[in-house]
Order: sequence, then C-alpha cells, then structure tokens
Amino acid sequence: MREGVYVRIERPDGTCGYGEAAPVPGFGAESTDAVEAACLDLGDRVDAEALMRLERSLPSLYNALSCALAGAGDAQPQRSLGVAALLPAGRAALAQAPLRGEQGFRVFKWKVGVGHADDEIAILDDLVAAVPSGSLFRLDANGAWDRRLASKWLSRASERPVEFVEQPIEASGPRSDDTLLGLAADFPVPIALDESIVSDGDVGLWLDRGWAGYFVVKASLLADPKAALERLARAKARVVFSSALETALGAKASLDLAFAWPGAKAALGFGVYPLFADARFDGPGGGPFISSEETGRINPEALWNALS
Ligand code: MG
Repeated sequence: MREGVYVRIERPDGTCGYGEAAPVPGFGAESTDAVEAACLDLGDRVDAEALMRLERSLPSLYNALSCALAGAGDAQPQRSLGVAALLPAGRAALAQAPLRGEQGFRVFKWKVGVGHADDEIAILDDLVAAVPSGSLFRLDANGAWDRRLASKWLSRASERPVEFVEQPIEASGPRSDDTLLGLAADFPVPIALDESIVSDGDVGLWLDRGWAGYFVVKASLLADPKAALERLARAKARVVFSSALETALGAKASLDLAFAWPGAKAALGFGVYPLFADARFDGPGGGPFISSEETGRINPEALWNALS
C-alpha cells in the first residue's frame, strides 16, 4: 500500500493551493506518519518559521506546503517528453519489451541484480534484440552489487546500448561514495545516482565531488527541488526526472519542473502508472510520451475532493 498526505492551504488572497507529501519508505528518513503528525502540529495556520523548521526534518512536507503556498506557476509552453518503459525483472521482461516497443517506447528500464549476473547479461542481449533498433536500456541495480560485480556489469554494459547503469552499489555502504566515483572513472558507460540522492544536501555534495554521471531526481522528495535543479542546471548536470510513486497531484508538480528543465531531455522515469486502485489518482505516463497538456488537465481540487 502506498501512503501519502495531501495538504490544502487557503492563501491570504482567498485562493486555495494544494500539495502532496509522499515520502518513500526507506528512501531518506521521512515517514508518512511523521508527515501526518507534523501537519496536526502545525494546526490551522502555517507561518514562515514553522515552515522553515520542516525544510530539513521533513523535506517532502516542506515541498508540499511550498507548492500549496505558491501561486499558479508561470504557464509552461506546450511540451512533450519521452518516458522510459518499466520492464519487470528477469525473463519476464522478454515478453513485455517488444510490446512496449510497438507502443512507441525507445527507452527501457530494467531491474538487474536480482538473478545471477551471467543469466541477466544473456537476457539483456535478448532484450536488445527484441526492441526497435536505436533503443536504449537503463539498468537499475538498486545497490545490489559489490564492486567486483559492478565492474563486470559496467564493462559489459559499455559494449551494449545502455544509456546508464543506475545505483550499481548501495548508497550507504562503507566507502561507497569513493567506490562510485572510482567505477565512474573506470568505465565509459554512465552511472546514475538514485538512492545516493535522497535529500537536497546530497545534490550539492555530489556536484561538489564533480559527479559527471546522471542524477535521478525524485523532485517530490526534495524540500526545494527548484533550488536543487538550478544548481544542477548551472553545473550542466545530466538529470533524469523520476517518480516517487506519488499520485497525480505530486506528479504534476514534478513534471512541471521537468518541462521547465533547460538541459538535455532524458526520458522521464514516470512509466509507473497505473498504480492506484482508484484510477483518479494515477498520474499521466501510460504511453511513450507525457505532454504538458496532460499535466495541465490534472485538477488538484478534484483530487482533494476525491479523498473525502
Ligand atoms: Mg532506481
């Protein structure tokens, strides 16, 4: 079950704003219970001081309240971005990949580090053969490998149409940051940081280290994603905008940031829907593209009302 909290704020001018806090369990230190408790603590007024206290302790709630407080954003010019198809782990991906290719997907995300490396590398070759030529693969290890296994994979991936390898080793292991930097220097295939980027501070930390690979940005989980993205843009960093499995309300805020991103457009990591028992809460992303027209149709007030 996926849990989160919607916030609704009446602004001084009488208009209402909405936001979604959807911390991912195990990703950073936030919990939905803590978010809910903090909302009850705030009472019926949000002052600047109370908001500031949340920036570090509960970034996703700070983010949600900031979204709710902000007026309607600048209208985005009509835009459309590609979406990465999400494939199931193991051999099950072989049945899915050609169907997704027929639907128009050209970037495929596949979870690895689940089975034996030799088996998975063989399946990857079958996957490459099963999708339209020119397609790219994202291999997400979710931190499953040690350095030796990661090296083996990165060397194989370098010879295949792999856009990047995501989080080859776990974010919190001993000297894992040095290992990630070492692996990035040793192999030509780019590495993407996902679990290594759980807070606004992590973005700055990895920029300061000169990280030249991808940053997977789950904007919903950052307190001030706009500021983090401005830093990333200044550094000309490579960014993949990704879902935190939030509902359409939070997805709209994240996707608006993706549409506004000035850098190169990697396919969106938003191929996660349908996700909810009540389809009204699903964000866009069933197909190979998401347009700003679709996110523009998401109605936060209707979602809020759907809860009650
Ligand atoms: Mg990941």
